[in-house]
Amino acid sequence: MTAQVLVVDDILANVKLLEARLNAEYFDVLTAMSGPDALAICERSQCDIILLDVMMPGMDGFEVCRHLKSNPRTHHIPVIMVTALDQVGDRVRGLEAGADDFLTKPVSDTALITRVRSLVRLKQLTDELRLRAATTQDLGFNTPERSFAEIDGNHGKLLLVDDRRSSSERFAQTLRSRHQIDVEEKPQEALFRIAEGDYELAIVSMALSDFDPLRLCSQIRSIERVRHLPILVLIDHEEEGRLMRALDMGVNDYLVRPIDKNEMLARVSTQIRRKRFGDRLSQAVQDSMELAITDGLTGLHNRRYMENHINTLVHDATARGKDLSVLILDLDYFKSVNDSYGHQAGDDVLREFARRLRKSVRGVDLVCRYGGEEFVVIMPETNTGLAYTVAERIRERIAAAPFAITGRTREIPVTISVGIASLNDTTQTAEALLERADHALYAAKRDGRNRVVAEAA
Ligand code: GH3
Ligand code: MG
Ligand code: MG
Repeated sequence: MTAQVLVVDDILANVKLLEARLNAEYFDVLTAMSGPDALAICERSQCDIILLDVMMPGMDGFEVCRHLKSNPRTHHIPVIMVTALDQVGDRVRGLEAGADDFLTKPVSDTALITRVRSLVRLKQLTDELRLRAATTQDLGFNTPERSFAEIDGNHGKLLLVDDRRSSSERFAQTLRSRHQIDVEEKPQEALFRIAEGDYELAIVSMALSDFDPLRLCSQIRSIERVRHLPILVLIDHEEEGRLMRALDMGVNDYLVRPIDKNEMLARVSTQIRRKRFGDRLSQAVQDSMELAITDGLTGLHNRRYMENHINTLVHDATARGKDLSVLILDLDYFKSVNDSYGHQAGDDVLREFARRLRKSVRGVDLVCRYGGEEFVVIMPETNTGLAYTVAERIRERIAAAPFAITGRTREIPVTISVGIASLNDTTQTAEALLERADHALYAAKRDGRNRVVAEAA
């Protein structure tokens, strides 16, 4: 993993020390010796992570962090605050300023590399999502990206997994002031509750009496639905080795006993904010994917999606020796609908046609708008005879009831022509299949329209 790390410290020796250790792990290192310098570098260049000293003359680390986290151009860059060992309060202040993590001086090698690595991983994932979300905005889809700092980290839904009632009750009491918290003593039960629930954070005690907490963490990571659920572990002082394994496994954060209440509240909020931020981004990506494969007028799949998908369906059907049929449906004399009633009325007809079409086929059938007033239905496990029955039913439903048009009292009669083709020994590709269906459609038009034709193989 290679990444650009910015080291900020007012003491040259500290800068050099961290630079050397990070270089040894093949990270690219940039350095700054004051807050303003650091901000200037972040504005200018690509920086994946920042190691930020708290105590600096002039602008201190907290202020630098607040600036970074309130600027939309830099708020997504993870910040690790480097605090003095005796200034416990600084950790909480750092987290409240929006820092993603902290390290205490003197910084141990393992802690440094593990924390940097895990945040770089998070950053890469976020970058990918941000990029895709930006594409969504380019497509005119409105998902304004709120800054990370604006996202609320309160009223989260948490599950605490701890079998020591004395400690779990204390934590639950602290957290209940801001969140909804459930406590589970049995790890296996916890896994079910997590898999089925809608938790935003799991807090796992590393001191479970007869179950390996790391196993629970890895099980959570292996369940698709909750793979991204943040996990925070509670450890005892002497468990450095297990902590490193936990972090490598994808545990997001930890608290060392005895646990400071304020630090716990701050870390929990940070995890919940990150989760909500990530969820927003993936929702934006999801929306953009849907947008890219959907026809705006009718809400059906578009041609691009169909052309990708039909290859898979043909391939599957051929490999498994299953039937597959396609219908191409085309509105008859549609140009004259536009000519007589206007383009808006034409659009109304297309929407209503799509609605009736969708209601006339099964859920497994893929319905899409192929072009202007041409539609395609792909029907898995369907032979020509069955496809004909379905097509006839659609044709009747269209012809039987004229179409209502917004702002008009008179309804418009509409008919369609349909061409059918099915997979057979000589037709093995999607292209050939569509071509044959198109031929059949042509025959239906030529023979007088408002009819269904299945092209003989
Ligand atoms: P045929 O029975 O031979 O299919 O005749 P037709 O008039 O339906 O076919 P033609 O291909 O000549 O015309 C199709 C018309 O569909 C022309 C075009 O203006 C109209 N059209 C295509 N897309 C849209 C659309 O999104 N909205 C509207 N209102 N009309 C559309
Ligand atoms: Mg037409
Ligand atoms: Mg046409």
